[in-house]
Amino acid sequence: APVHLASFCASIMDTIGTVAKKKRITLHTEIPEELFVEADEDKLRQILINLLSNAVSYTQDGGKVELIIQERGDDEESDKVIMKVSDTGIGIPKKDQPRIFERFYRVDKGRSRNSGGTGLGLSIVKHLVDLHHGEISVESELGIGTTFTVELPMLQD
Ligand code: ATP
Ligand code: MG
Repeated sequence: APVHLASFCASIMDTIGTVAKKKRITLHTEIPEELFVEADEDKLRQILINLLSNAVSYTQDGGKVELIIQERGDDEESDKVIMKVSDTGIGIPKKDQPRIFERFYRVDKGRSRNSGGTGLGLSIVKHLVDLHHGEISVESELGIGTTFTVELPMLQD
């Protein structure tokens, strides 16, 4: 069913806001008002919640987390929705980046020690993105921050 992204994400950002506030993390969103994507609401929520909770967990107090959504296509018609979750957090070492979507994989060296996660969050995200015939990628710089980009077809066939 078509999901109206602006209102859908507003409620997700509300949820994330509670945790972000405790760490004085600033949240920022940019979502075109008229944009819809055909997706399963529960799965889409899980994708965004997992990425946004990682962004908040792995960002120090006072940092910034963003959700930016755009449409993309040729000049005629847009056919993809691009969702970017960015943070100003600790970053992911280059050598670990290819493995973070594996089940139970966690980047170590004390960073994950306090967060009590299981290392399943991103493997679930990857699985749910695959179910929508989408793609996910990561760009990250140690000590600077991380951006996860999810591309979903606007319409499912
Ligand atoms: P879970 O999500 O199951 O509670 P988790 O957060 O450790 O546990 P994933 O969400 O799969 O597991 O993430 C895997 C690892 O990737 C994390 O342990 C963390 O080291 C790293 N990671 C994920 N997102 C970020 C991010 N935004 N910034 C820095 N590191 C990240
Ligand atoms: Mg996680």
